[in-house]
Amino acid sequence: MTATQGVAAAMYRVYNFSPGPAALPTAVLEKAQEELLNWRDSGMSVMEVSHRSPDFIALAAHAESTLRRLLQIPDNYRVLFLQGGATMQFAAVPLNLAGPDGKADYVLTGNWGTKASKEAARYLRVNIAASAEAANFTTIPDPATWSVTDDAAYLHYTPNETIYGVEFHDIPAVSDAPLVVDMSSTLLSRPIDVSRFGVIYAGAQKNIGPAGLTLVIVRDDLLDRARAETPSVVNYRVMADSDSMSNTPPTLAWYLASLVFDWLEEHGGLTVMAERNQRKSAKLYAAIDDSSFYANPVTPAHRSWMNIPFTLADPALDAIFLEESAAAGLTNLKGHRSVGGMRASIYNAMPQAGVDALVSFMTDFENRHG
Ligand SMILES: *Cc1c(COP(=O)(O)O)cnc(C)c1O
Repeated sequence: MTATQGVAAAMYRVYNFSPGPAALPTAVLEKAQEELLNWRDSGMSVMEVSHRSPDFIALAAHAESTLRRLLQIPDNYRVLFLQGGATMQFAAVPLNLAGPDGKADYVLTGNWGTKASKEAARYLRVNIAASAEAANFTTIPDPATWSVTDDAAYLHYTPNETIYGVEFHDIPAVSDAPLVVDMSSTLLSRPIDVSRFGVIYAGAQKNIGPAGLTLVIVRDDLLDRARAETPSVVNYRVMADSDSMSNTPPTLAWYLASLVFDWLEEHGGLTVMAERNQRKSAKLYAAIDDSSFYANPVTPAHRSWMNIPFTLADPALDAIFLEESAAAGLTNLKGHRSVGGMRASIYNAMPQAGVDALVSFMTDFENRHG
């Protein structure tokens, strides 16, 4: 056992800054542990029961109604619990919303939006309405400068770019086309006005639950545009009509997401989460900005509440920073290879105490090495 593993084992739970799969609330895992062998007095695990059983159908209904309350989802939207990750939606969105001659606008503020546009280009004509690539994805191009297409089937953007740490804090109003958004790393971090969007999708493993589940929230009038060849399991109409059970759904992930929704509601819902997330990120950005040792390149108005990349003045210290932080119980801080340095992902499950511990560690590290 290495020293790091020894510390981690001794402290039971570390502060896990992973971008995804990411930390889940400890209370959720404890509840799942408590129910693991005997769910709802069935004498079985939730993993071992039929998705068609009354108990599981009740769980699915509970998960959806809790999520609807949390996000205040209007009645004219359907909520789908799918598989395939956000990446499957990169293809499902064009297949569901437009024919091969259709056009769609994409705004690129990082690598996820870029990947989404490339996948979509296999199915329809993609217009890049704006891109921040020339600025190394450190900002969001002013919506007034976006070149949107008149007859686009939709406009796609990524409200939070997980790798670059760039977040939209407002919804752009530049197009009459339905807005389609990849909210994988921001959904449930704050209240949103669902009625402004045509489709919202998110892989669960950042801020919702474990990997394996993908949420899609789709406006009614967009359910019937799918091409005939769209696979049934990602066809919004098919999945809406079958309550997301056209085939076997990811039952364990669905159950765990439901526990996360309950946890969010018990903690005051998304208004409380937004205050916490804003406060946590402000503390970390202040620590970075107040030092000449750490730096974050993102335009302040577009900095993410969820993913905070930062570099050290001397990259030769990166490995030591990672080793020492892990030994202090602060794990998974390594930045993405395309940005370098560090990245702290601080989703809902990261408590203020975890951010406080990281900031103390950073100050101490700077004092010793800066
Ligand atoms: C993680 C992430 C993805 C990829 O999600 P998968 O579920 O692995 O397909 C896509 N978009 C964003 C914004 C992400 O953060």
